[in-house]
Amino acid sequence: MSVINKLLAYQEEDAKLFEIEKKLNESDSRKKGVQAQRFLKTVADTLAGIEAKAQELNASYDSATAELEKLTEENAEFKAIAEKVADEKELSYLKERASKLTKNLNELLRKIQKLEQDMNELALQYTKLKKETVAYQEQYEKSGAEFAKLKESVASERKEIEENLKKLSASIPPEFMAKYVEKRKDKQFPIVYTVNAKDRHCPACGTELSLKQLENLKKDDEIHECENCRKIILLG
Ligand SMILES: [Zn+2]
Repeated sequence: MSVINKLLAYQEEDAKLFEIEKKLNESDSRKKGVQAQRFLKTVADTLAGIEAKAQELNASYDSATAELEKLTEENAEFKAIAEKVADEKELSYLKERASKLTKNLNELLRKIQKLEQDMNELALQYTKLKKETVAYQEQYEKSGAEFAKLKESVASERKEIEENLKKLSASIPPEFMAKYVEKRKDKQFPIVYTVNAKDRHCPACGTELSLKQLENLKKDDEIHECENCRKIILLG
């Protein structure tokens, strides 16, 4: 059997393995597992971020309420003083200060209100994220178990193919095998194509091969690649 036929026979067997790998990769359980994994990988950071933000808001809230208490007290003292003052000039000064104080108080109240709103929103966000985390944890475990089952269901078939491939590869020159294995990593099938000398086109990409390339292809103890698509091409 020529090297090309050996390589094609290897590829034919390998195509079955490729199909199994594709089936596993494209399975629902794997997709769901990957999705859950992606979520769980980043959620800890997101939750930590929310916790830090909540702490920050709490601190702002505490200082704002302390400030409010102080201003409310000041305001009460002020009113008591104002009631006792008879002097017009002093009274107008006190009124001005009182209105400033009221303005500050209102601003502070608005600030507190906004803080409360932000804290509530953050709490909702946190609860939602926690809930999602639990759901994704369940999804991760469930899809993991399903994927293991799927893998198990093709394990014996896979083993048989791998054994056949091992046998087939034994009679293929190592440099040919090495090239094949390297290309196999691209996860694109087929890997090896046979060129019809009369047709002169790469069967993979359709590029017309130069005469020099065709001449080169005649050296069947060497491995050749299409200059355009880099697929392995051999003269059939
Ligand atoms: Zn090509």
